[in-house]
Amino acid sequence: MVVVEDTQRLIVKRVVKLKDYTSIKIGGRVSRFFIVNTEQDLSKLVKETGGLFYLLGKGSNILASDERLSKPVIKLGEEFDYIKRDFSLVEVGAATSFLKLVKYAVENELEGVENLVGIPASVGGMVCMNASSFGREISSVVERVRCMDKEGSISIVEKDEMKFAYRKSSFANRIILSVWFKFENGFNLKEKAKNFLKERRIRGDYDYPSCGCVFKNLPGGVFSGALIEGCGLKGVRKNNAAVSERHANFIVNLGGAGFKDVECLIKMIKEKVHEKYNVVLEEEIHRWT
Ligand SMILES: Cc1cc2nc3c(=O)[nH]c(=O)nc-3n(C[C@H](O)[C@H](O)[C@H](O)COP(=O)(O)OP(=O)(O)OC[C@H]3O[C@@H](n4cnc5c(N)ncnc54)[C@H](O)[C@@H]3O)c2cc1C
Repeated sequence: MVVVEDTQRLIVKRVVKLKDYTSIKIGGRVSRFFIVNTEQDLSKLVKETGGLFYLLGKGSNILASDERLSKPVIKLGEEFDYIKRDFSLVEVGAATSFLKLVKYAVENELEGVENLVGIPASVGGMVCMNASSFGREISSVVERVRCMDKEGSISIVEKDEMKFAYRKSSFANRIILSVWFKFENGFNLKEKAKNFLKERRIRGDYDYPSCGCVFKNLPGGVFSGALIEGCGLKGVRKNNAAVSERHANFIVNLGGAGFKDVECLIKMIKEKVHEKYNVVLEEEIHRWT
């Protein structure tokens, strides 16, 4: 990796391997990888790219090609990593790790994110995806968002102007810069978070790198994982990618798996589930090619 410019503010890296930045440890070379630390630099960069770039959070929902990507990658740097009290709200920078926010909330007996503990994410990625777990969506505690559009202009979006749905938000084409959360006062949150984390570890597969659930669940509370398991696909492999033995909606990287291996498993799963249940599975993960 060669750092060609590092002013503390804007870091431009040439030849980054994206697999070093994704939770499934897959992804090829990127020749333009920007770590941005100020809104001014971000705005300038967004304009320069004509709005054509990939925005990376913690990379836990990204399946990136092994080939060189067609667009540059932008990542928010450490200046976007902060938590501060703002009267009754808590403002959090988009690059802050979600784990850090949960720890802060739990320590301060602020209720609302403890169900989501253990989701590997940045706060920006979490809100963009409207991540959820154990019956709670992150959107339930989002009050205000500061974001940039693809022309580089900044705006503040209030709760009543936002749209959220299952794994979707109105921020998909914007860059979230910071999020204000409104929490209720809670009690015994450390214990509650501990139990949710324990349950998460039992249900999911944390032994191998993955993107978490590959497919969205279906309306009516039907779990895609149950359909995949019903097709007998647990443990099926394509080279070093495999349908997890522990959670059929996870595809895991057993070591050195590539984009095409995962793509092949996804295709096979879709076909088998369609054949058996007449259901079309929709991908939750984001493919970058
Ligand atoms: C082991 C494991 C378990 C998981 N469990 C869950 C779960 O229980 N529930 C759940 O909902 N998800 C789960 N996930 C999926 C994933 O953690 C979430 O989708 C998370 O919200 C992704 O956040 P990220 O920062 O990693 O975003 P990335 O994966 O980097 O990006 C995801 C999307 O968000 C966009 N994005 C990132 N940052 C910003 C920003 N600042 N502004 C606007 N858009 C942005 C990206 O461009 C991309 O489109 C799991 C993943 C793993 C690996």
